Amino acid sequence: MAEEAEKEVTTFEDFKLNKQLLNAINDAGYEKPTPIQQQAIPIISGGHDVLGIAQTGTGKTAAFLLPLLMKVKYAQGQNPRALIVAPTRELVMQIEENITLLAKYTDIRHTAIYGGLGPKTQIETINKGIDILVATPKRLMELYLKGDLILKELKTLILDEADKMMDMGFMPQIRQLLEVIPRKRQNLLFSATMPDKVVQLSEEFLEFPTRVEITPQATPVETVTQTLYRVPNLRTKIELLEHIIQDEETFNRVIIFTRSKKNAESVSKFLEHRNYGEVRAIHGNKGQNTRINSMEAFKGGDVRFLVATDVAARGIDVTMVSHVINFDVPLIYEDYVHRIGRTGRAEQEGAAITFATDAEMYHVNKIEKIIRMQIPEVPMPAEVKVFETPFEEQQEMAMDIDRQKRRENPDFKGAFHEKKGRHKSNFEKGKKKGDPKNSFWQKTKKKGSRKK
Ligand code: AMP
Repeated sequence: MAEEAEKEVTTFEDFKLNKQLLNAINDAGYEKPTPIQQQAIPIISGGHDVLGIAQTGTGKTAAFLLPLLMKVKYAQGQNPRALIVAPTRELVMQIEENITLLAKYTDIRHTAIYGGLGPKTQIETINKGIDILVATPKRLMELYLKGDLILKELKTLILDEADKMMDMGFMPQIRQLLEVIPRKRQNLLFSATMPDKVVQLSEEFLEFPTRVEITPQATPVETVTQTLYRVPNLRTKIELLEHIIQDEETFNRVIIFTRSKKNAESVSKFLEHRNYGEVRAIHGNKGQNTRINSMEAFKGGDVRFLVATDVAARGIDVTMVSHVINFDVPLIYEDYVHRIGRTGRAEQEGAAITFATDAEMYHVNKIEKIIRMQIPEVPMPAEVKVFETPFEEQQEMAMDIDRQKRRENPDFKGAFHEKKGRHKSNFEKGKKKGDPKNSFWQKTKKKGSRKK
């Protein structure tokens, strides 16, 4: 058993993925596989059927896409060899976006089909030849029955969010689909919950499946006080961080979480330069020994700040952490629960503070659904200098928000392009700092409670 544990997969390289995929993973900024990826990828790669029980926010999409992309490999033939069925167009588009991200260095052809708009363009895309098709059940069967779609070359079928599909009454379409596709194929079924209907479907649909399960801790520990600040940009986040940590006595052992290695480095360098006490950073670029030493020093109480990315911090067990600061909002929503679980351990009172830009509020709302509560928002302290958002950062956020809106509503055209070039920021004009009175923050700050 001990040997087994040592063989645990810790990096994406361990999955023997090809170079194109590893490069795309690297571009996406994924440092380490999430638990569902660690469990599911080797089994799916081995060609087995899988029953995956995992919610959105666990990294489940990449867990089935990476082995699928390995299998599909490159553009070949005319008809789809893999089909992913999901209940809503929002989810279908999200999966399609993930394919675009991960298949960017391959020539694999993929598209998403869903209702709510005419099928003409979708049919045209399919006719050009397709390797992976993502579809909602109704539109899928509509096109199939009209003869616009040939499914006889399918080798892999993936049903995502099966529980939701059953709730939405798609069982007839799924049954119909199972009857018309080749029998010899690999099947994967993902569901957040396992009501009877899904159990029944999995029995009909999967052959000797391996079950992989990730059960999220649904509610944060009760002893943790949560706070949310709306912060316009990176520079102001640093400013707010500096303001908050002035109280040395209260903020004596702080973990600061960032989304990327780059932000972890920037934050730790900043704290070091300003001499706010001992700082250590742990992230994917740090060697295992350095990480262990940093953790030990932090546990021992010699270090005031530990700056970490989620993956590097998984599984750390430190008691007496005074505060967790989410410098960035986590995209793996369960990580929020993991992050704030670091404080308030062993009956200690703990506090978790989250900084969110406008673009990150989308994820805050999703996290609030998982933790089933609203994170109390507090206004930005008046002493904190608010910086104007540099042009590039502004563009990135606008694109992010567009992407989120399009996810919710595929017909959304996107406001981002229209704005391009109209607002030249001080950053663009060559100035380093903006005038706080005329800042992005001031313009976008909303009074009162936020919309859900
Ligand atoms: P999902 O549960 O598939 O909806 O994924 C949730 C989010 O996590 C998405 O924004 C993914 O791009 C992101 N993600 C997936 N895998 C990883 C990983 N290994 N590391 C960091 N982020 C990831």
